[in-house]
Amino acid sequence: MIEARDVRLTFGSTPALRGANLSVARGEIVAVMGPSGSGKSTLLHCLAGILVPDEGEVWFDGQRVDTMNEERRSMLRRDRFGFVFQFGQLVPELTAVENVALPLLLAGARRPKAVAEAGAWFERLGLGGLEGRRSGELSGGQAQRVALARALVAKPEVIYADEPTGALDTLTGEQVMDLLVTAARAQGTTVVLVTHEARVAAYADRQVIVTDGRVDALVEVLS
Ligand code: ATP
Ligand code: MG
Repeated sequence: MIEARDVRLTFGSTPALRGANLSVARGEIVAVMGPSGSGKSTLLHCLAGILVPDEGEVWFDGQRVDTMNEERRSMLRRDRFGFVFQFGQLVPELTAVENVALPLLLAGARRPKAVAEAGAWFERLGLGGLEGRRSGELSGGQAQRVALARALVAKPEVIYADEPTGALDTLTGEQVMDLLVTAARAQGTTVVLVTHEARVAAYADRQVIVTDGRVDALVEVLS
C-alpha cells in the first residue's frame, strides 16, 4: 500500500536517505527505529508526501506520490493521512475539541457535527471534561492524546507518527501507544511509527531499522 523504492534525499551536502526501500501493507503497523540522524524522520516525510526525494519513487495506494504536484500531495495528506508528532502540534488558540474537529471542518463538515464527532473521542481516550481546555492548559500526555484524537477523527487510511511518545514518561507513553494501536486496529488504519524506544516499537507488527539512510529488517536475536 505504501512503498519507498530506492529513495535518496540530500540536504545541502548531508545525505539523509541513500537508497531507502520500505513496503508497508494496508492495516500493518510498522515501527521505524534507528540512531539519531539516520534518516527516520526524512523517510517518514517522504512517504507522507511532505518531502520530495531527489531520486527514487514513493507510492501510495497505486499512486506515485513523489511526482505529484504540491496541491495533490497536500490533498493526500489532508484527506487520507493523519499525523502525530513529538510536540507542538496543537493549535494553541483553539480549544482541545476544536483542535480535534479541525480535520473534519477541513473536509467540509458543518461545525456542530464536527464538534460532536470530535467530542466523542474525548471519552474514548480518557479525556472527558478537557474539551474546552487550550493546549497550554493540558499535560503532555493529555495533549498527546488530543493530538491522537485529531489524527484519528477523520478515519485516515494511514497514520504517520514521529516519536509520538518521545516527550512522555514511560507509563503515559504506553497508554498513548495502547490507544493508538487499539484505535488503528479497530479502524484498519495503517501506521508508520518512528521511535527510538524498543518498548514502543514492540507494539508494531514489524520493526525496521534505518542506518545511514537505508532501511533493514530488524532481526531479533532471541536468547
Ligand atoms: P532523530 O532520531 O534525531 O530524530 P532522524 O533519524 O529522524 O533523527 P533525520 O531528521 O531524518 O534523522 O535526519 C537525517 C539527516 O539529515 C541528519 O544528518 C540531519 O542532520 C539531516 N537533516 C534533516 N533535516 C534537515 C534539514 N531540513 N536541513 C538540513 N539537514 C537536515
Ligand atoms: Mg527524527
